[in-house]
Parts: sequence; C-alpha cells; structure tokens
Amino acid sequence: MKFPELSAYIKGKLSECGLTEGEASFEMREMLSYVFGKDPLAILLDDSEVDSDSLKRIEGILRERQEGRPLAYITGERNFYGYTFEVNEHTLIPRFETELLCETAINKIRERRYESLLDLCTGSGCIAITLNLETGIRADASDIDGDALLMAQKNARRLGSAVDFIRSDLFQDITGKYDIIVSNPPYISEKDYNSLDRSVRDFEPEKALLAGYDGCDFYRRITEQLKGHMNPGGTVMFEIGYDQGNAVSDMLDKAGFHYIDVIKDYSGFDRIVTGELSDERDDV
Ligand code: GLN
Repeated sequence: MKFPELSAYIKGKLSECGLTEGEASFEMREMLSYVFGKDPLAILLDDSEVDSDSLKRIEGILRERQEGRPLAYITGERNFYGYTFEVNEHTLIPRFETELLCETAINKIRERRYESLLDLCTGSGCIAITLNLETGIRADASDIDGDALLMAQKNARRLGSAVDFIRSDLFQDITGKYDIIVSNPPYISEKDYNSLDRSVRDFEPEKALLAGYDGCDFYRRITEQLKGHMNPGGTVMFEIGYDQGNAVSDMLDKAGFHYIDVIKDYSGFDRIVTGELSDERDDV
C-alpha cells in the first residue's frame, strides 16, 4: 500500500467508528505524524510503499480506536496551541475549544500587562503552560489529582515552561493573589453526562468532567472565594458549557465583578465567561 492509499484507508476505518469527515481527517493526520514522526503533509505527498512494520502499528491503533479508546490515549499525546502535550487516563484530553480560552487570556494579559496567573483544575497543564510560554507571565497551576499534576509537571519540563504546580482542592491550599485567574473546570451536568460520547464517558476521567446536577458546582465554589485571591483590576476567565453563560455571569455579578462578558466559540456556542474586579482607583 502507498501513502495516499493509506490515508484513505485510515479515514475509511475511522468513519466506520462514527467519526465525522473532519474528525477522521484530523485523527488520520495525528496518527501518521505519530507513527512516522514527520509532518503529515510531507507524508501525504510521499508516493512510496508503506513498510509493513508501520502498517502493523497502524492496524493496532485502529483496532484500539474501534474499541472506543480515544486516539490521544493510544498515542499518549495531543497537540494544543501548537505544543505537544503528553496525556494519560488521569488527565482530560485538551480540547480544541480550550484554545479560545488561551487566545482570549493571552490578549488580556498583554493588554493589561498582567504579571501573575493562576490556572485552577489544570489537568495536563495545557492552559497554564501555554499562557506561560506565550506571554512569559509568572504562573501557578493547581489540581486536586496528584497523578494529573505529575503529567502536568512533565509537560512543563518537556516544553521548557516554568509553571509552579500546587496540589490543592480549588483554593484550599492556594495562598497567593493573582492578576488573572483562569479555569476550565469540570462542567458537565448529570443529565448531559449520560449522553456524552462513549469514548469520552468510558475512557476520560469522570472527575474531570462531571460537576453536579447543573454542571455548575465548580463555578459556584470558585466564585465564592475568587475575590480573596485576586489583585485589584484583575480578571477571571472560565471556559463554560453551551448553556451556562447566564448562570456563570450571574455568579460573577453577585461576587462583585464588572465588565462581565460571554464569548462564543467558532461553532457559535457560548464558551467563555470573563469578568473584572475594579481597580483600587475606582473605589476611591
Ligand atoms: N485544564 C485542563 C484542560 O483544559 C483540564 C480540564 C479538566 O480536567 N476539567 O484540558
């Protein structure tokens, strides 16, 4: 089999697993770059025969994929914001949508010249590490899960990022104050959890996804203590589920935040909520 045929073959097999055309193309490229260690575009232009060892590896990956195991757990990695993050069963797989949270935070950090950041529920560390690498901001990141933190630490080391990791149940063991606090916490409601894709429900950590009857448990707990951990003029930025914009905006409003804004993702769903604390000067 030659490379162009191989790519069509992989895509066909992935479509049989129920992936859309776009998802199948994405995973086919991820798989090729993982197996051949090269840019997938260069591989696709190659007209030579595929060696049998590589073919066997691909068949093995496809078999696991057919059983529903997410590709990122099979390969142990996922590209996020142009960086390769290692992942395992203790960490949520970084999602494309979360890049929007990073992009929005990067703009805010630059615009306001923020110097300190906290990322709560850091998981693989993808948000804190990306923000630290892109802006140079001093960053702390926390998670309740020690195994997830080990992976986050490993990612920071590999990518040359200087994030400090703290094991903490939200703010419990956080003592600092920050200019910007970001979080993509668990936010799936009990009702929505049952209708999640099987490959998410059966393989990704439940505690990284599930968040009470309305999916807002973490936002409630975080906003209760947020102000005490932020510097005047600071910003909070959450990733949210498609139907949580109003609820989370209300929480921030009640907690004394201003300039509350809900931002939509590229599919048109509410995805990010931001709010700011007044600068000391406003309170004079
Ligand atoms: N912050 C990590 C991410 O966005 C983990 C999120 C989570 O576990 N809920 O991928």
